[in-house]
Amino acid sequence: MSGVHYRLGIDLGGTKIEGVVLDAACVTQWRERIPTQADRGYEHIVSRIVGLHARMLEVVGDARWSLGVGTPGAISAATGLLKNSNTTVMNGRPLALDLARAIGHPLRIENDANCFALAEACLGAARGHRVVFGVIAGTGCGGGVVIDGRILTGRNRIAGEWGHIPIDPTGAPCFCGARGCVETFVSGPGIASQYASLTGQTQSAEQVVARWQQGEYVARDVMERVFSAFGRGLAAVAGILDPDIIVLGGGLSNVPGLCERVRESLVRDVFSDTCDTPVVRHHLGDSAGVIGAALIGDERPIA
Ligand SMILES: [Zn+2]
Repeated sequence: MSGVHYRLGIDLGGTKIEGVVLDAACVTQWRERIPTQADRGYEHIVSRIVGLHARMLEVVGDARWSLGVGTPGAISAATGLLKNSNTTVMNGRPLALDLARAIGHPLRIENDANCFALAEACLGAARGHRVVFGVIAGTGCGGGVVIDGRILTGRNRIAGEWGHIPIDPTGAPCFCGARGCVETFVSGPGIASQYASLTGQTQSAEQVVARWQQGEYVARDVMERVFSAFGRGLAAVAGILDPDIIVLGGGLSNVPGLCERVRESLVRDVFSDTCDTPVVRHHLGDSAGVIGAALIGDERPIA
């Protein structure tokens, strides 16, 4: 544990900020959630994080500690500014610098999907596997690569970002500018818009899944496309990374039978005579993001 006694993690989300204190054995000693209050702007969010961190210091006392912060988006390798966050007031801001100044201590910031993958690789469903691909599919579709217990960030800090691989050139336009990206199928909004394009009806992803379970024909068609696209996207990932295990998280991971259906599609589409890659559901649930954040504070990236 590199002499660090406590690992502090903060998961910054659009609606909530969560903090956790792990002891040297990575056992949770303290955990708290507060509302982000993103509508009150960037400086307010920073002050919320600093306030949460101050309460963590009360837990650790005089012991040594490290701090990691997980957030949607990424710190631009070129500018040091946050980019691609769906909490848009954060974009273009020097979050790492501002937090380090306010806290007076070094910290590391990572994409939330990378944090998820690291937590599941070190302490969750992918424990014991060397090369791990973690997927978060919910509001959007992200991913993270962990090799030998360390996040592969990549030269441009986009390693694992498979959500915008185009898999259907005739598919729906994506906000990124391409068509038929993985995310246009494998996300809550993707499911809702696939359903709307076939029926003209506005239904949430949860409602579409419920209709699928009730045997509705159109919902079944939509979900078959989702499973197929999910596996096809993972086959593209496997063609480059060939991970030892794939862990699924995010809201979509609650879809019954998802892992099995996605694996069938992966096996069908991957360029190999055999494919025994396990596709499994996360083990850490909602905690993976914040636990992964705690782990990155004391982990050096490969790249
Ligand atoms: Zn896209």
